[in-house]
Amino acid sequence: MKRKMNKLFILPALMLPLLFFSCDAQGDFNFFSLQDDVAFGEQLHEEILANPEEYPVLERYASQNNQAIYTYVEDIMNRILESNEIYNRDVFEWQVTIIDKDVLNAFAAPGGYLYFYTGFLNFAGSEAELAGVMAHEIAHSDRRHSTDRMTKVYGIQILWSILLGEEPTLMGELLANLTTGLGGLAFTRDNEYEADEYALRYMYSVYDNPVVNRNYELRAMQDFFNRMEDEYGVEGDGQLDFLRTHPYNDDREANMTSIWEDLGSPVGVYYTDNHNAIKLLLQ
Ligand SMILES: [Zn+2]
Repeated sequence: MKRKMNKLFILPALMLPLLFFSCDAQGDFNFFSLQDDVAFGEQLHEEILANPEEYPVLERYASQNNQAIYTYVEDIMNRILESNEIYNRDVFEWQVTIIDKDVLNAFAAPGGYLYFYTGFLNFAGSEAELAGVMAHEIAHSDRRHSTDRMTKVYGIQILWSILLGEEPTLMGELLANLTTGLGGLAFTRDNEYEADEYALRYMYSVYDNPVVNRNYELRAMQDFFNRMEDEYGVEGDGQLDFLRTHPYNDDREANMTSIWEDLGSPVGVYYTDNHNAIKLLLQ
């Protein structure tokens, strides 16, 4: 993807952390402000819209089927966003874009921008599976894993000098890396564990909520990853982007099971028929 390095666009947003240094929930220092996360997400989104060959967006208003697919996916997102464990639900943009490509992939950009491929929607076996992975992507964005990662990799000193315009080359590199999920800085193993944990917590926190009207089976997310691993091989084979960015293994599965047990081993529902109806529209 060709990147437009628009320094003037980013710099005003970068001024904000001068006044509002932020820490994440673990007390780790994040150099960037919440508004920076949104600005980075916006920039990435514009790049995606400007590259229809690589990212052919499913046009919402091209057909009634497409509208129904968007409504289904957005409703799932909005249900998860009812969770009061999502810190930035009123600050970030929270929008989902569907990429019309038969590729098993999904990713989250900073600031609440979520992307799902039609190949991913086809692979998911139930609404609960899709909700689980979507909650995981929401957690990456809400927990600010991209800008946390940038803070750790570059360090405060270098980020200051970039901010002051002393490192123009690094400024370009930083912008390129922030559009992560597209081959930039990979999330860490800890990021993945945290995203799994929060995904389960988000979904469980809206159980029996009449507005949400879904008790998603929390183990559906494990089903999804297990099936993906069965079909596409073990982590790190480099063939499938989603497995490369979300390496799945027995430790991750055990971690999810133990969180599920901590939550009282709740039994939920898969909503498989809802998902099958949408798959028919994708044909
Ligand atoms: Zn992840």
